[in-house]
Amino acid sequence: MLESASQEQHHIIGGGIAGLATAVYLLRDAGVEGKNIRIYEQLGVAGGSLDGSGDADTGYMIRGGRMFEEHFACTFDLFDTIPSANNLDISVTEDIMAFNRMVPGSSNCRLVRDGKPAEDRYDLTLSAHDIVDINRLILHSEPHLSGKCIEDWFQPAFFDSNFWLMWSTMFSFQPWHSLTELRRYLRRFIHLFPGFTRIAGILRTRYNQYDSLIAPILTWLLDRGVMILIDTQVVDVMIAGTRQSRRVTALALSDNSNVPIGENDFVYLTLGSMTDATVQGSNDRAPDPSDSESGAWTLWHRLAAQYEGFGRPEVFCGDTSKTAWHSFTVTVDGPEFFEFMEDFTNNRTGTGGLVTFADSSWTLSVVLFHQPHFRDQKPDTYTFWGYGLRGDRPGDFVKKPMWEATGDEIIKELSGHLKLTDMQMEWFDDARVLPCRMPYITSHFMPRQPGDRPDVRPSGARNFAVIGQFCELPRDCVFTVEYSVRSARSAVASLTGRVDPPPPVARTDLDPIVLIRAARVLMGM
Ligand code: FAD
Repeated sequence: MLESASQEQHHIIGGGIAGLATAVYLLRDAGVEGKNIRIYEQLGVAGGSLDGSGDADTGYMIRGGRMFEEHFACTFDLFDTIPSANNLDISVTEDIMAFNRMVPGSSNCRLVRDGKPAEDRYDLTLSAHDIVDINRLILHSEPHLSGKCIEDWFQPAFFDSNFWLMWSTMFSFQPWHSLTELRRYLRRFIHLFPGFTRIAGILRTRYNQYDSLIAPILTWLLDRGVMILIDTQVVDVMIAGTRQSRRVTALALSDNSNVPIGENDFVYLTLGSMTDATVQGSNDRAPDPSDSESGAWTLWHRLAAQYEGFGRPEVFCGDTSKTAWHSFTVTVDGPEFFEFMEDFTNNRTGTGGLVTFADSSWTLSVVLFHQPHFRDQKPDTYTFWGYGLRGDRPGDFVKKPMWEATGDEIIKELSGHLKLTDMQMEWFDDARVLPCRMPYITSHFMPRQPGDRPDVRPSGARNFAVIGQFCELPRDCVFTVEYSVRSARSAVASLTGRVDPPPPVARTDLDPIVLIRAARVLMGM
């Protein structure tokens, strides 16, 4: 143990994966004792966006399912020393690899049209013009794209292509989102192009991400004495000094208490959250936006208003009509729907990934994960998840926006697209269907300019750093676990100097073989 490391206190704001990863790096790599690390989480549970809750009777609930890929170097390194919840003899990383060998993903039914697997589902339907535009974008330099939207770059017909339908639903992009971020994605994941229409090359966790990632990491941290303060919001952070040299001197908590930050102490700030203000509905109730409680943006707004170098939160959270979507989690008793979908998609459950209904006005997609998806899932219950990228538009079988639809109405819409008979629809008679509104789910994709996101180590910061999805990291892509974990490692490396910085983002976009393969895919060869 390093002497200096035993003196200092580390205060981590936000108990999402960015905050938890920060604590692991401090303990595991920087020699800080667990008792000197505190995590403040405003919600009643840690894990942030990586959730998994509920039970068979009231319905299981996940807001989403995470896709990983082999170049999530920071994530796999982090979890390589955390014992798996499934088998304490192996790490979470080893468990993910073992699971994906057992249940390898390769979709036979990525797109559905007119109630059938789309005949052109392996065809990207890109025009020559679209292909040139994609290539131009990949080759363009980032600063020149600043503030631009995707729809500024492509012709309108591009947005009718199968490529865009698959891309936008897989990664959750909208035409009005950031062109800069799309370019980053195209470059970062270019090695996945050959498997793109089949979602091949994607790695998943054995269970939902709370059970597979968060529960093991929490156990590991709590066993080592880290204090996790739930239901504790940090409402303000006092910073003294100038932009040349400044330090956090105190934290103000929601219970009106103050936490003094000493000369040797450090503070890590998660600013904003894609799942802030989530509202859940039920079978007979649409999620009511007025029920939402927002908190994760407040601190960022305060800091940005008071201090330089904290970016512009309103760029990301200022227009929920552009950043919201609804997902839903269904719990059914009996395997009938899953057996039907195995025949329909020609995929064993868990191997297909996202199935998108091409003619759905809500742009509805569903994923049937490997079962059980919850560690304690009751036998003979099955859970699946879906979402609507365009829930602002009226449905095709339910004549209202998904944003106003109950769980039962979402099932009616899904059944219509699958052309289920009345008898088949009875599979859902007792289903628990939990819709979920996430007003900020794509907030990090809003068009941005340099300076809109603070640096991990804002200028002059002597004892604080920014972590999570809204700090600036070169090359890596937001809306990923990897981005948050990378930010945590960068923050601990920069503040303590006792941890190596993260490895560079893999540059598969510089590999000529990858580029040739990607070009062949785009040209349909
Ligand atoms: P969050 O998870 O948002 O956590 C931040 C936490 O900080 C929250 O719990 C919040 O309550 C707390 N907090 C904020 N401010 C304060 C404060 N002032 N005081 C106290 N607490 C505070 N990633 C992938 O890699 N692949 C995918 O396929 C993928 N799909 C996704 C699908 C969905 C539906 C969702 C929701 C996410 C998906 N992600 C995916 C993204 C991934 O889950 C997130 O990027 C990651 O979990 C973000 O972690 P974070 O810790 O940075 O932020």
